[in-house]
Parts: sequence; C-alpha cells; structure tokens
Amino acid sequence: MKRLTTDDEKSMFRSLNLFYGKDGEVWVRGGGPEPDYQDVTLVQWIKWAAEEHGLNIEAENAESLGDEMYDALQDGTETVEGIVGLLHAAAIQAAEMRERLKLIEDILGDDYDLDRLREMVEADREGRCRIHPKSENNTCGSCGHFQRISGRRCGTCDVYSKYRDRYGRVDDRRGTFTPSQSKKACKRYEPREE
Ligand code: SF4
Repeated sequence: MKRLTTDDEKSMFRSLNLFYGKDGEVWVRGGGPEPDYQDVTLVQWIKWAAEEHGLNIEAENAESLGDEMYDALQDGTETVEGIVGLLHAAAIQAAEMRERLKLIEDILGDDYDLDRLREMVEADREGRCRIHPKSENNTCGSCGHFQRISGRRCGTCDVYSKYRDRYGRVDDRRGTFTPSQSKKACKRYEPREE
C-alpha cells in the first residue's frame, strides 16, 4: 500500500493533500491567485472569498475566524456564510487527519502492508514481540544494495541475485537471494546514503 500523504506536486495523491498544516495554521495548496497559484492560509483564502462575494465574514486571524465560522455553521445552507462555515470545518478536519496520518506514514515509509502491521500490533499486545538490540556489525539492512521487501524483514540485493554456498558457488536450487535485514554484511557492503 503506497503512502497517501505527500508534498510532491507530481504525486497522483496530490488531490488528497489539498489542505495541510504548517506553523499552527491550515493551508490551501495552490489556493493563491493566478499565475503562481501559491499556497495560502485558509484564513487568507476565506478572506478573499468573502471580499469577492460580499460575505459577512471578517477573517482577521485563525482564532477569530474559527468563532465566526462556528456561528455561521448554525445557518446551515440558508446563507452562503453557513456554506463557507462547513467548508472551513471540512478543511480543518482534512488538515488534522492528514498531519496525523503523515506522522504515521513517516514512520512506516513509502510502502506498507496493513495486514502485516495488524499482525505485528496484535503480537505486541499479546506480548509476543521482542526488540533485539541493534547489531554492532554492519548488516544487509543498512547496506545501500539492499531493497527491503514490503512488510517483511528480508529483501533483495542489487549485487547478488542468487544464494551461494560456503565456497561462493551459485546455488540455483534456492531461487532468488532474499537476505534477512539482520544478515551479517558481505565484502560488497556499502553504507546506505541517508
Ligand atoms: S551486504 Fe552484501 S549481500 Fe547484503 S545487501 Fe549488501 S551487497 Fe548484498
């Protein structure tokens, strides 16, 4: 499963990241005027909308706008201010949900497997997990040639595609070489670039 939170303008998930949090405020991605379509705060965006359409909204700052929008929400769809109030609430919700999910996805990485995560959390709750101390030695997991297989503790190696026996001969019977991330590194080890 690919991560959804992104700041990449070319990402196919860009539309799911329209509202985001920065410096304690909600921002609208690409909400500024043409030709630059800069990101703007939600407060600024609503202020412009209110001026353009003659709405009874001051939008001085995030806090006072929150109060105004709370009152406007009581109008429901009877006034445009009420409709903007709902849009404001939806934008706050979207930004808060995105920032929480982003924190989680920053931990999980670009690709993750929900079934595997569920299994791990259940195992942890049941006391079946043990965290091993970090290896003092270099391992495949910290090697630049190692590509982890999503949701597993092993991966593939860019240098060796097949298993080898103790004499260094390729062993075709064992299929693709998928070393564990904790496997002791070989001589071709190269530290992963951060
Ligand atoms: S340490 Fe050796 S075997 Fe492991 S990933 Fe790097 S190059 Fe491949």
